[in-house]
This record gives sequence, structure tokens and C-alpha cells, in this order.
Amino acid sequence: MHLKKRILVTGGAGFLGSHLCDRLIAAGHDVICVDNCFTGTKHNVYHLMDDPHFEFMRHDITFPLYLEMDEIYNLACPASPIHYQHDPVQTTKTCVHGSINMLGLAKRTRAKILQASTSEVYGDPEMHPQREDYWGHVNPIGTRSCYDEGKRCAETLFMDYHRQHGVRIKVARIFNTYGPRMHPNDGRVVSNFIVQALRGEEITIYGDGSQTRSFCYVDDMIEAFLRLMGTGPEFTGPVNLGNPHEFTIRELAERIVAMTGSRSKIVHKPLPHDDPRQRKPDIALARERLGWEPRVPFEEGLIRTVAYFEEFLRAL
Ligand code: NAD
Ligand code: UDP
Ligand code: UDP
Repeated sequence: MHLKKRILVTGGAGFLGSHLCDRLIAAGHDVICVDNCFTGTKHNVYHLMDDPHFEFMRHDITFPLYLEMDEIYNLACPASPIHYQHDPVQTTKTCVHGSINMLGLAKRTRAKILQASTSEVYGDPEMHPQREDYWGHVNPIGTRSCYDEGKRCAETLFMDYHRQHGVRIKVARIFNTYGPRMHPNDGRVVSNFIVQALRGEEITIYGDGSQTRSFCYVDDMIEAFLRLMGTGPEFTGPVNLGNPHEFTIRELAERIVAMTGSRSKIVHKPLPHDDPRQRKPDIALARERLGWEPRVPFEEGLIRTVAYFEEFLRAL
């Protein structure tokens, strides 16, 4: 039997959050999307506004929020370096005060709560690929620290609310994800390269392009969130979610140029501070506990993402 739930998505007007709202509404749930619209926008959820089961609420989660909920997906937090470094104190507040408020809400209403953590908790990893039992290699005082340490502290809070108060928690360590509704100007590599290629601008590789990443298509990631939320109380995570298919940033640039038929030239710019050399998830735990692995091939995901940005740039 289908059980209709009241579900809160914080950061629901952002890239991942808006896709999650789509899936939850399609599954017949009541969804409240809470967002302060710092990096997200109502445009991402306009198509849901007329649905009687969907509600948008402009609110900053660093302030308390009293609602009655069955499940909470805590995604609120700027995710790209440009945005999270814009107001680093607010970034840490969102991770820490925001998590405390959402955990307080979960504790009071006995809701299940999922935290969108990140591969950044591993910092610039000395273990490759990264498994969940690796403690990380993180700079506590650098320009990325507001995000990395904020997310690490959030994980601590989730584990302590679970141990101390019995809150039902799920912690997802999300690796690089891409797809439609990525912010066009947030500096992330997939959106940057696609927008540059479509506009015929120079493609900016930072450093020599030999650093590696692995990219997961958004639909695969949302499927993993739903499966993780659906696991029994004995499983809290943290669990890595991402695509283990790894390639260099140079290869990425070349594939995007080839796919878009762009005449853009590839240029090199300085590598940002603390930029991880390699990143690739070990997803054995997700395979075992969630029966999940990414399904959308990179070419396919890229075609859909390029189509989104073509439309987006046309509408400007
Ligand atoms: P995003 O910036 O598109 O979405 C984040 C949303 O949170 C935005 O809509 C923003 O306006 C909102 N927000 C920020 N601070 C808030 C606050 N204090 N109160 C209420 N709303 C607030 O980013 P995204 O890529 O969709 O990321 C979603 C979550 O997943 C983030 O927590 C991020 O750290 C995590 N994550 C994403 C990736 C990725 O590759 N996209 C990787 C690792 C982790
Ligand atoms: N909180 C909230 N919504 C709720 C319940 C709590 O925003 O429905 C906030 C509340 O402001 C508090 C925080 O969550 O500061 C942590 O709650 P908890 O119950 O853990 O702590 P306490 O209220 O005892 O400080
Ligand atoms: N990058 C790049 N050119 C760009 C944007 C990013 O070469 O225009 C590089 C960046 O230095 C990093 C990788 O691409 O090595 C991924 O960057 P992103 O900001 O997307 O994600 P993260 O560093 O958080 O994995």
C-alpha cells in the first residue's frame, strides 16, 4: 500500500533539491520546499507551484522552523566554492546551526532525517578511492574549510542526535553530481565547460587538467537518496553516493568540445587553493545496502545537460 508522507526538502529550490521535489511529488507525497533562495531559485520549482501537494516557503534554516513532518531531506547549503566562499561564516552557520534546527525538528516530530554531506569531508584524500571508513585529510583553516569542516561538524551532530536522542538519521556523502538546473555561473566544472563551449568562449582548465573527478548524473543521485531514506533504522550511513567512473578534467573538456561541436579553444588557468588531485568514490557499501549503482552513462547525461543549457541560454 502506498503511504502518503509529509516531506520537508531544505534547499529544495536548488539543483539537487528541485529534482528531489519532482520525484517526491510524482510519488504522491506532500512536499514542503524550504529555501532562502541564496543559490537556488523559484524558477527551478515553478512547474510544481500549482500542485496542491507542493508548497514553497522562503526561510533560512539557521533560524528555527516549526512544522509537522514525517521525513526531512536536509540539502540546504551552497555547494560550489564560489558561492560557499562568498559568505563563509554563513556557510558554517547553515551547516551547523541549520543542522541543529533540522535535527531539533526531527527529534520533536520523530521524523526521519537525511543529511546531504559531501566527498569534501575527505579533503584532499590520501586514500584512493575513498571508502567511508577513511577519516579524511582536511585543512581546518583554509578557504574551503567553512564548507568542509561545516559538513564534518554536521555529520558529528547527526551521529550525536542519533546516539543521544535516538533520532533516525541517514548520512549521504555525495560526490560530484551534474545535470539540468545546475547553476550556470557557480563555477563548477561541468556547467562551466558546457556554457563556455556553447558560447564559443575559451574553455578554462585549472592547472594542467590531470586532476581527476567522477561525475554522477542527477537522476541516479536522487534514486540513491530515496533508497537511503527507505533503509531500516539499523542503517545510518555515512554512505558514499557517486559514480566511480573516473577521468581527468582534460578529458572532460575534450569530450564536451567534441559533443557540442564547439570551436572553443582550451586554455589553462591557475589551480585553485586546496584543489583535490583525485576523487573517486568506493560505492561498495551503497551497492550492498541500497542495491544501487549509477545507471545513466556519461554520454547520455551530458546530452541531457547540454540540451538544458542550450535552452537556458536561448531564453536569456
Ligand atoms: P545548490 O546550491 O543548487 O542548492 C542548495 C540550496 O540550498 C539552494 O537552493 C540555496 O538557496 C539553499 N540554501 C543555502 N543556504 C540556505 C539556508 N541557510 N537556508 C535555506 N536554504 C539555503 O546546490 P546542490 O548542488 O543542489 O547541493 C545540494 C546539497 O548537496 C548541498 O548540501 C551540497 O552541499 C550537497 N552536495 C552537492 C554536490 C553536487 O555535486 N551537486 C556534491 C556534494 C554535496
Ligand atoms: N527546533 C526547530 N524546530 C523544531 C524543534 C526544534 O527549529 O520543531 C530548533 C530549536 O530552536 C532548537 C534546535 O532546534 O534550538 C535544537 O533542538 P533541541 O530540541 O535539540 O534543543 P533544545 O531545544 O533543547 O535547545
Ligand atoms: N575546474 C576547471 N575549470 C573550471 C572549473 C573547474 O578546470 O572552469 C576544475 C577544478 O579545478 C577541479 C575540477 O575541475 O579540479 C572540479 O571542480 P568543481 O568545482 O566542479 O568541483 P570540486 O572541485 O568540488 O570537485
